[in-house]
Amino acid sequence: KQPLVEVKNLKKYFPIKKGILGRTVSHVKAVDGLDFTIFKGETLGLVGESGCGKSTTGRTILQLLQPTEGEVLYEGKNLVGMNPIELRKLRKNLQMVFQDPYASLDPRLTVGELIAEPLNIHGLSQGKEKDLRVEELLNVVGLSSYHAKRYAHEFSGGQRQRIGIARALALNPKLVVCDEPVSALDVSIQSQVINLLQDLQEQIQLTYLFIAHDLSVVRHISDRIGVMYLGRIVELADKQALFQSPKHPYTKALLSAIPIPNPLLKKERIILKGDVPSPANPPTGCTFHPRCSECMTICRTEKPALKEVDGQFVACHLYN
Ligand code: SF4
Ligand code: MG
Repeated sequence: KQPLVEVKNLKKYFPIKKGILGRTVSHVKAVDGLDFTIFKGETLGLVGESGCGKSTTGRTILQLLQPTEGEVLYEGKNLVGMNPIELRKLRKNLQMVFQDPYASLDPRLTVGELIAEPLNIHGLSQGKEKDLRVEELLNVVGLSSYHAKRYAHEFSGGQRQRIGIARALALNPKLVVCDEPVSALDVSIQSQVINLLQDLQEQIQLTYLFIAHDLSVVRHISDRIGVMYLGRIVELADKQALFQSPKHPYTKALLSAIPIPNPLLKKERIILKGDVPSPANPPTGCTFHPRCSECMTICRTEKPALKEVDGQFVACHLYN
């Protein structure tokens, strides 16, 4: 397995400003020290409740947001602090599919223009060649050339997400960050879009970082899954291992909330105490400790590091 993207100690803090002078009084630690690798050809799922920093992680990896600290290596080259011309060239390889296809598509452009936009920005193809490329991209996502002249609002949610995917593929990317690509869609349409993403992965050797708030959504598509809680990864493992032997109490709680096809694996729903704390004022020690039923004294003061336990990575003092 070759690494495509390596994330090292990635942090993204947003300043909270107060007063007329706009003094920074504190920070929201949206992403607070991530270390993981995305291997070529795999799908790495990233799950966690809303506000845990999943989208910020995706955007920071793509340099749509400037990281506060850390490195993002793409094929060994650090994108953080790279000169803009070089970054622009590499950025073609890193694209994003957004949660709400409607909000992310300019309503004044035809579908053909939307899909051609990335080609225009990078000055890639013109005239007849561009029309052919747009047609090809429409076909790849299961639409046809006659859709090119129409507007996004004339399409259903699922079709709009296909348009968003075609647009993301226009520049032949290597990595596509899918940020909750099916969360806004009807359940009946969700699997169609996920199947499309899987077919595309095989056809054109894509690598995905697939972000979702729900383990049942990433389950089908992922090879490995990372579970995020308040800006950190608390567990990272192969999909099978994560579903069969979750280690972190938070992963166990998330898993207990989704239906398991195997009725022999009897389980009780673990109800988490309270809500996700604010990332502006995270708990000390293990940030999960106020909600953890297995909390020990050390958990209140010491932040557990992500460590390998039986081939899985877990950040929890239970495994010391
Ligand atoms: Fe629970 Fe402690 Fe593990 Fe945190 S470190 S998940 S509080 S047992
Ligand atoms: Mg999000």
